[in-house]
Amino acid sequence: MTTAPPTATEALPRPLVHRLLAHAVAGGAGTVPVHAPATGQPIVDLPQSSVADLDRAFAVARAAQRDWAEVSVRERVSILRRFHDLVLAEQDTVLDLIQLESGKSRVHAFDEVSDVAVNARYYAARAERLLAPRTPRGVLPVLTRVEVRHRPKGVVAVISPWNYPLALAASDALPALAAGNAVIARPDNQTALTALWAIDAARRAGLPEGLWQAVLGRGAAIGGEVIARADYADYVDYTGSSATGRIIARQAGERLIGCSLELGGKNPMLVLADADPRAAAKVAVRACFASAGQLCESIERIYVHDTVYDRFVTEFTTRTEALALGSALDYSYEIGSLTFRRQLDTVTAHIGDAVAKGATVLAGGRARPELGPYFHEPTVLTGVTPGMTVYREETFGPVVSIYRVRGDDEAVEQANDTAYGLNASVCGRDVAHARSVAARVRAGSVNVNEGYLAAWGSVAAPSGGLGDSGTGRRHGPEGLLKYVDTQTIATQRALPIAPLPGMSEAMWARTLTRFLGVMKALRQQ
Ligand code: NAD
Repeated sequence: MTTAPPTATEALPRPLVHRLLAHAVAGGAGTVPVHAPATGQPIVDLPQSSVADLDRAFAVARAAQRDWAEVSVRERVSILRRFHDLVLAEQDTVLDLIQLESGKSRVHAFDEVSDVAVNARYYAARAERLLAPRTPRGVLPVLTRVEVRHRPKGVVAVISPWNYPLALAASDALPALAAGNAVIARPDNQTALTALWAIDAARRAGLPEGLWQAVLGRGAAIGGEVIARADYADYVDYTGSSATGRIIARQAGERLIGCSLELGGKNPMLVLADADPRAAAKVAVRACFASAGQLCESIERIYVHDTVYDRFVTEFTTRTEALALGSALDYSYEIGSLTFRRQLDTVTAHIGDAVAKGATVLAGGRARPELGPYFHEPTVLTGVTPGMTVYREETFGPVVSIYRVRGDDEAVEQANDTAYGLNASVCGRDVAHARSVAARVRAGSVNVNEGYLAAWGSVAAPSGGLGDSGTGRRHGPEGLLKYVDTQTIATQRALPIAPLPGMSEAMWARTLTRFLGVMKALRQQ
């Protein structure tokens, strides 16, 4: 490192902080100090929301949503287009914020900027068509006209974590707003200013007041509270751990509201016998260590075919050791800091347990306190066995285990030996074969010759987990339509669905029976 990283106060002008905090309905429950993970410097005393603040936020959101539902989809999405432009034009500000609050490197902060822009563009282009009423066939052709309309849920709570603070706060809120809802965001305290920046940009893009506000507080306190009462959230979008996802699901079930749960993972990569070991190693480095491994889609297990094992391991280890660690607010470093002491503790505990039980550290393995309090080297393990914590549990840090396998069946069997099913990667030269292996992996998305960005960045396709990785889908039509209820309006014309005058019920039944036979013969739906 040649220059000292900018301090939090240098990078964060006070007028900006005040402007952002104006979008939070908070203050009734005091403040909590937030520090920059990379340097330990104070960022902000963050106001916290009381129940009275929540009452106010939801009342304002509900009133604003009634008017918003009357606004045409075309007009709503014009705001998404302006938001897209603002995010790109003002990226330096939000990149600084993301880096200061989360500790990640700029290259991975930029992934968030592009994610939000791509989602804004996609829903701006698609929402009008996806939300248009449909007219499916009625029970009696011609005589029964059916229209299926989409009604916004009302007020959607978006509870987002700290690891992708812009992407996970904004990219789920944008389709909810496009669908005619109001959004109450509950961003993590650690990264609240980034989420508030997104709200601020949306307001400047023309979003009416009250439609997207934030409440602030610790998860178990305020996070749980936003779905506690009937006049609070009508739907909840949750991203975080599987353990908390289960709590949210119970609370949503109690209230009989819908929820979208985007949860944890222990994601595998399969390097097939015909893979190019150099290309696969390059893919793996990015897939394992983006945001210092604090990415739900991160690869934590790599199954490598015997024939390419040695070359892959050498290449991957060399590339991992070459990664530059640092905290500058520019593109000079590839790996930033972990975000919390507890993340660092988990990383060191998983490595320590594995080494104590016989695993080998091929690269990394050490915390780097001289760079900042929570820095840790990207770490590669071999010799990991089922008795080690890291074998099955999500580390959510820069730690990956490599396993030697002797065929596709063994690779697929081991990859699927997990309760999770979020993301996976398959590398091989014969792409058709790699795709057929991909289809056998139990995961919501599988990337061929890529780690996570091919599927994640293709926002026209749904993204979400199987098993313990959750029940939700974001992106694609699914990521919009989850925020609406369908309403079927069926109009009966000319004749009622009943016996004609003078017709007995028995004759009506015989007529209907013939009608049903004809419909089937004509292969009608
Ligand atoms: P966590 O569940 O402890 O916390 C996540 C967020 O939920 C935090 O902001 C927290 O304040 C809040 N929260 C905690 N308890 C809550 C409650 N009872 N009610 C409402 N909110 C509550 O998870 P974490 O360990 O901080 O985050 C990392 C986890 O999130 C990892 O498992 C990771 O895989 C997962 N994650 C998943 C995705 C995805 O899209 N599938 C994306 C990012 C992170």
